[in-house]
Amino acid sequence: MSEQNIIGKGTWIDKLASELLEREEKLGRSTDLLRVESGLGASGIPHIGSLGDAVRAYGVKLALENLGYKSELIAYSDDLDGLRKIPEGLDVDKENIGKRVSKIPDPFGSCHDSYGSHMSSLLLDGLDNLGIKYIHKTAHETYKKGLLNDQTLKMLDKSKKIGDKIEELTGQQKFQTILPYFPECHNCGKLYTTESFDYIKDEKKVLYRCKDSVIGYDDKRNKDKKGKYLGCGHEGESIIGKDLGKLAWKIEFAARWKAFDIRFEAYGKDIMDSVKVNDWISDEILDFRHPHHTRYEMFLDKGGKKISKSLGNVVTSQKWLKFGTPQSILLLLYKRITGARELGFEDIPSLMDEYDELEKIYFGKIKIDNEAKLVKSKGLYEYVNLLNPPTQIQPYASYRLLLELCKIFKEDRINRINKKLVDYHAIKETSTDIDNLITLAGNFADEFDISEKIEIEINSITKKALTELVLLLSDGEEIEDIQNAIYQIAKGNGVEPRDFFKVLYQIILSTTKGPKIGPFIMDIGRKNVAEKLHAHI
Ligand SMILES: [Zn+2]
Ligand SMILES: [Zn+2]
Repeated sequence: MSEQNIIGKGTWIDKLASELLEREEKLGRSTDLLRVESGLGASGIPHIGSLGDAVRAYGVKLALENLGYKSELIAYSDDLDGLRKIPEGLDVDKENIGKRVSKIPDPFGSCHDSYGSHMSSLLLDGLDNLGIKYIHKTAHETYKKGLLNDQTLKMLDKSKKIGDKIEELTGQQKFQTILPYFPECHNCGKLYTTESFDYIKDEKKVLYRCKDSVIGYDDKRNKDKKGKYLGCGHEGESIIGKDLGKLAWKIEFAARWKAFDIRFEAYGKDIMDSVKVNDWISDEILDFRHPHHTRYEMFLDKGGKKISKSLGNVVTSQKWLKFGTPQSILLLLYKRITGARELGFEDIPSLMDEYDELEKIYFGKIKIDNEAKLVKSKGLYEYVNLLNPPTQIQPYASYRLLLELCKIFKEDRINRINKKLVDYHAIKETSTDIDNLITLAGNFADEFDISEKIEIEINSITKKALTELVLLLSDGEEIEDIQNAIYQIAKGNGVEPRDFFKVLYQIILSTTKGPKIGPFIMDIGRKNVAEKLHAHI
């Protein structure tokens, strides 16, 4: 790859930013301020993938700034979303289903003024922990201030055309009979039970009735499952801008894009239909060329299902940070953008070690011959550090090594492991960074079973050598010089000792390098190591 072919830092983020710029230029719009947007759900406990949208949009903002433009990230919490389903394990009265989440009491006590603000605050806290800067807007405030009034009135005026287009693009017929606007019922306070059936343009109001409604909700375990919400039968009118209500989701994005002058918003595969409709509305009804998009990858739980916000055992960023650094989350989210990926806490060890590898590449401690790969790796490292990378390499010890040591040393852990690391020449000296890593790995080792078997190819002569080593380790006899014993076993079987050590590191630590293996084996226990090796012969 030649110099001039590299855009920005050479990552997908830079490519996306430059596509965006090219498009804006073609459209002839001002590029004085390029706003990117990300939606934040407020209806369930946010899993780590929910941060992805905002973190990646922030990456695009950084890339634009790096290319010399001004940019900001709008993080929009949809707290007018009606609650469709009570998340598992949460104490929420059934009466609240169908009400907007900003009207439902906080199920976690009185720490926030509503269910919605508790959930949004978890997401914002997650972003703050990662160092993401954003301008926060909520749907509630946005509608209350009337920021979407013009767009709402325009869309109500064209509701027939919009209803037809929604059917054409998505097959959904609902908006052929009702208006795409949900007022909050004046009687029961629910939002998803109201149906607007008439728009009185001169008075800027809709007429609605509150009736039983059926709304699909996000639960991939019960595909197409729908909830039934009981309406109260009330009939009333709702004045746009005065009474609270919200646009149907299929058309609301467009209103926001126009109102906030948004130039980029990513989306997940699951809302592709909505994006199609919103793009058309933005272009044709609101006369605002829709923002540049990209489709981002979805996160699946280990069962291959999309992580649903309403399932228990959510992989939250708060919990992740008990075991891994903010950089491990940022690496997860900046690594790539397309596809679908399974995700769980068990990914933390490899992400931690992968970050260290990137750091070593960045500081030239690991040589990469492939120029394109080098540029990309360095660029990724910079994005993971939000384009403000450290000026020197940080102290690090292999996370997997720490896990093994944490399993053995449970008391006075930091001191004892530090001593071992120095003994093994894994670190030169103790530091708060290493103490912190030991704490993280310790939390992980205490909470999860880390004895997963890794898949490696082992040839038959190496297997023979391994068998001999297993016998030696299982034998109760004292081993005088284990390092030498391993060396001799390799030699005796015609295996290059260096390669044999490599296999041992792979089996014990899932890496190809490690501390002096002999003393380390004695520390983590002969029997323990024999069991690990045995699984591979
Ligand atoms: Zn709260
Ligand atoms: Zn009602």
